[in-house]
Amino acid sequence: MKAGTPRRCDVSCDVLVAGGGPAGCAAALALVRAGADVVLVAPAAPDRPRIGESLAPAAGPLLERLGVLGRIALDGHAPCYGGRAVWGGDGPSEVSSVLGPYGPGLHLDRARFDTALLEAAEAAGALRRTGRIRAVERLPDHWRVTTATTGTTGSTATAGTTGTAATTGAGGTLTARYVVDATGRPARLARRLGAAPGRSDRLTALTGILAAPGGGPAEPERTSLVESTPWGWWYTAPLPDGGRVLMAMTDADLVAGTLLHDRDVWWARAQATGHVRHRLAPWREPPRQLDVATAGPSCTRPAAGPGWAAVGDAATATDPLAARGIVMALATGMEGARAILADHAGDRGALAAYARRITALHEEHLHARAVQYQREQRWDTPFWRRRHRTTG
Ligand SMILES: Cc1cc2nc3c(=O)[nH]c(=O)nc-3n(C[C@H](O)[C@H](O)[C@H](O)COP(=O)(O)OP(=O)(O)OC[C@H]3O[C@@H](n4cnc5c(N)ncnc54)[C@H](O)[C@@H]3O)c2cc1C
Repeated sequence: MKAGTPRRCDVSCDVLVAGGGPAGCAAALALVRAGADVVLVAPAAPDRPRIGESLAPAAGPLLERLGVLGRIALDGHAPCYGGRAVWGGDGPSEVSSVLGPYGPGLHLDRARFDTALLEAAEAAGALRRTGRIRAVERLPDHWRVTTATTGTTGSTATAGTTGTAATTGAGGTLTARYVVDATGRPARLARRLGAAPGRSDRLTALTGILAAPGGGPAEPERTSLVESTPWGWWYTAPLPDGGRVLMAMTDADLVAGTLLHDRDVWWARAQATGHVRHRLAPWREPPRQLDVATAGPSCTRPAAGPGWAAVGDAATATDPLAARGIVMALATGMEGARAILADHAGDRGALAAYARRITALHEEHLHARAVQYQREQRWDTPFWRRRHRTTG
């Protein structure tokens, strides 16, 4: 890997990054800026709706280091002045970010945010290959990676859109000195290398997007809101276009008993809350569909090995209660890139040290999360009993 203008490559490169979310783009940007030849493989369209639209203020310095803060700031996202939580009592407590060291966070248009990062990685010199990783094989001093194409090569996404419909085409083969798994929670590459994400619980998110109401909504309260319930908790936040995201969080095995997978029951339960319902006042109807997603913390062990590293959710995923998944994805993307560069420069302990750091971050998260769940003691129900038993 030489410093200077990165060379474009077709079938052979220094680093292959699998996944075009925040972690993959952060890793690609950091690597390309250090002079590495990078190919980023990602599907033309996301596998599922992009979820996660509150960007914590701590993302600011990371985006600045990646050289994309200016673009993100001008990209039409809305400020987020903090969060409210009805947790452990009937009244809301407030956390304001306005006076914090990094100022307000953002309510993201998540598709536009991810697209901006992807375009920045391409503009910096990463070659985007549209498709998905199908197989990976270790050869003496490089990897051979087989991809299946799911669209045309090159960036198909434009700001605010999710790209063209994916079509399966011919696959291809790439060789790379290093591979980065940034495929999100499934950690598809790491699994193929014998590592697997271990999950701490079966937390599940049932998410609905409420479209911007007609007639121009009043300026929404630019804060997120969490409200606990006997079976879990609600989360809601405004979207930059006047819409709103609403999530019910419970355990996978409790969904059937609560009927939360039924859109009408989900909506009726939201309307029965003490606080969330006030944020839903402009809407008369539930959203057309609910997206169901795994949401509990997980950690891939090991998160790196000779010639490879997992970053973002593929390395460690956090409970959405912490609202720091994107920050972790950016940070671990950059750290994973640093470890690869250090390994290439001859520091043979760099990737193992990175893997230990991921485990430590995960343990730290489990501890902080256990403390947070202990603060809610009003219900002796399965969801809470499980979390009260956990000490982190
Ligand atoms: C319900 C819920 C709510 C959340 N809310 C928030 C929030 O408000 N704020 C926040 O900061 N975080 C939130 N998060 C977490 C946040 O969304 C994630 O931490 C973040 O998206 C992780 O980024 P990533 O790049 O690691 O993975 P992802 O964003 O999942 O990206 C993975 C990429 O890999 C690609 N891919 C998959 N398979 C392959 C393959 N075989 N080959 C190539 N590419 C592949 C995918 O298409 C995608 O581009 C939430 C998570 C959940 C579950």
